[in-house]
Amino acid sequence: MDFCRTPDPEYKPISSPIFYLCLMSEFLEQDIKFLPGVGPQRAELLKKELKIFTFNDLLYYFPYKYIDRTKFYKISEVTSTMSYIQLKGTILRFETSGEGLKQRLIAHFSDNSGVMELLWFQGIKWAKENIRTHVEYIVFGKPSVFGGKLNMVHPELEPAENKPVSTGIFQAFYNTTEKMKQKFMTSKALNKFQFNLSALIEGKIYESLPPTLISKLKLMSLPMALRQVHFPENPNLLKNALFRLKFEELFFIQLKILSLKHKRESSFKGFVFSQVGYNLNTFFNNYLPFELTNAQKKVIKEIRKDMGSGKQMNRLLQGDVGSGKTLVALMTALIAFDNGFQVSLMAPTEILAIQHYNSIKKMTDGLGIKIALLTGSTRIAKRTEIHKHLEDGSLQLLIGTHALIEDKVNFRKLGLVIVDEQHRFGVAQRAKLWKKNEFTPPHVLVMTATPIPRTLAMTVYGDLDVSVIDELPPGRKPIQTMHYHENRRKQVYDFMRDQVEAGRQVYVVYPLIKESEKLDLKNVENGFELLKQVFARYSISMVHGKMKSSDKEAEMNLFKEGKTQIMVATTVIEVGVDVPNASVMIIESAERFGLSQLHQLRGRVGRGAEQSYCLLMSSYKISNESRKRLETMVRTNDGFEIAEVDMQLRGPGDLEGTQQSGIGFTLKIANLGRDGEILQHARNQASDLLDNDPRLEKQENQILVYNLLKMKNTEFNWSSIS
Ligand code: ADP
Ligand code: MG
Repeated sequence: MDFCRTPDPEYKPISSPIFYLCLMSEFLEQDIKFLPGVGPQRAELLKKELKIFTFNDLLYYFPYKYIDRTKFYKISEVTSTMSYIQLKGTILRFETSGEGLKQRLIAHFSDNSGVMELLWFQGIKWAKENIRTHVEYIVFGKPSVFGGKLNMVHPELEPAENKPVSTGIFQAFYNTTEKMKQKFMTSKALNKFQFNLSALIEGKIYESLPPTLISKLKLMSLPMALRQVHFPENPNLLKNALFRLKFEELFFIQLKILSLKHKRESSFKGFVFSQVGYNLNTFFNNYLPFELTNAQKKVIKEIRKDMGSGKQMNRLLQGDVGSGKTLVALMTALIAFDNGFQVSLMAPTEILAIQHYNSIKKMTDGLGIKIALLTGSTRIAKRTEIHKHLEDGSLQLLIGTHALIEDKVNFRKLGLVIVDEQHRFGVAQRAKLWKKNEFTPPHVLVMTATPIPRTLAMTVYGDLDVSVIDELPPGRKPIQTMHYHENRRKQVYDFMRDQVEAGRQVYVVYPLIKESEKLDLKNVENGFELLKQVFARYSISMVHGKMKSSDKEAEMNLFKEGKTQIMVATTVIEVGVDVPNASVMIIESAERFGLSQLHQLRGRVGRGAEQSYCLLMSSYKISNESRKRLETMVRTNDGFEIAEVDMQLRGPGDLEGTQQSGIGFTLKIANLGRDGEILQHARNQASDLLDNDPRLEKQENQILVYNLLKMKNTEFNWSSIS
């Protein structure tokens, strides 16, 4: 991390404040073992467990919460649902029970309102030697219930006469790990380290943002914010400190993303698709199966403009399931053909690739476009033929799966790459597609049906332009969603029967995850056998990922053609499968699915004119989080709302499509789920700043350049998002 000395081709002339920053940053880059109170052994733990290697890492290791240390509860008021609380009282006596590993220490702790047990399973020897009876203690911990009694496990104790290291009424709490706690490296220990560090750096922290920005936005200064965030003096100062630090974190990310975008746009040229010709016109006039929705029209316009501008298009097309993205993709491809270019369309599963191939082939029948399908199961002879026609340019559209990028496919004139259902593809794979053209990169259109919360899109896909289809084709009735338990099974079967009798079709989906694959597979197969008995008069299909792809395809086709009425499946049908006559989606063990998956699955119905239903089956005992997911599904059909809830529940780092970027995990203080407003603010400020100084050449912005260079050395994986 020695960026002060390493010559960097992008390095700007050193102006004097930056020179001081370098000196300071050398000080802060010291090994954490040199911090008073730490030493080599604790340093090892800090490095291993929390990735705190330097003074600076510790300074930027922020509390996850604050507790008001002026508030004391009475034992008589305590309930097991409370979070961390503070009690004041004395220990009457100790008791040990159990032996060996099962040994535990019990302290009977009392205030004048009652008695509560404090429990230790570890560090018993230490506790016995250091904690005394009949001395007034402040006890800190989270109440729980054990053996029917209220208690507190591994509480923090402090003699009441000792003052806490916090200077104000709040005490900061830091996350630590089990391994650390075993060595008594608790939140309190970290608090002490922070205290020691704060004494060393007093008066030595420098501002990281230009003074004009600070005064324009009335931001707290960096040294003040760093002090207040660890040792808040009052709620207002804490609030301002948090705002300042969150803003700064998000601001630098946006500045980086937007300046990269700027750089890319000014250095790459794109193919100019200036023509709208035979293909698009003929299709539009003669073969368009329905009127486009206004949203589709708007989006096609945006795409056309972008592809005709001379820039290389990098566009994310968001649209809820069933909003008609395929048609937009097709019309975009037709523009490319009209300009003499080839197109590739990549889907995440073979089923979906085949479906796209069939439906696009059908829709463009009259145009005579040359289309081929390339998947993992394409035979060698066919493959060779495809390669040949791609290279001589006679093949216009190649539809396929990952095989498209893994294979040594060479296009003669690739002008557009369409990626369907982005969240299944890593960003790195998207980048691979680019490389298929040596000189000018093709336009890229990425489609996703997993609406990404705006805040996340701005960060993970911040370098892409975004189009949104926010309207479903007319005549769709909102899907009705219900949540049932096992006791309603018979009604569910009756309902299925009614629907099938009325000519509709039904999906029954089972979970299948890697960790419990064998068991899950058995459930699917058992479910299939059971349904065959219950619905002996009907035909039933089954599809799961372990089947041969030719069998899968055959089963899918039977269902598509209405020859089977019920489709038993795993999530292989999650993405994009289109059978408009299917009107019921039954999801078994729905509590085991994630929200975005549930939403995707539900999107398989409600594609025709009939009223559609989604029945979520679950066991009685489900976690609060699962309950919240199912309630959300019952309450709303709005994919964006669902995505927001998903992000609140899981945190952005776990959302599909973000794992590869690692962004959710790398943020130290801002939270993409909660700090959307600050993010928007930061983005606007970054954008304004770049408007005024696109290459960050102004003297007062050198401090930003310096900090951006510093970011390069952090774990934040820029290459994955640029
Ligand atoms: P998704 O956005 O989920 O990929 P699809 O492209 O599969 O959605 O479209 C869903 C269904 O809606 C398909 O059956 C498609 O033919 C139909 N559809 C698409 N656009 C329109 C439209 N403008 N009017 C009526 N139906 C449409
Ligand atoms: Mg689709």
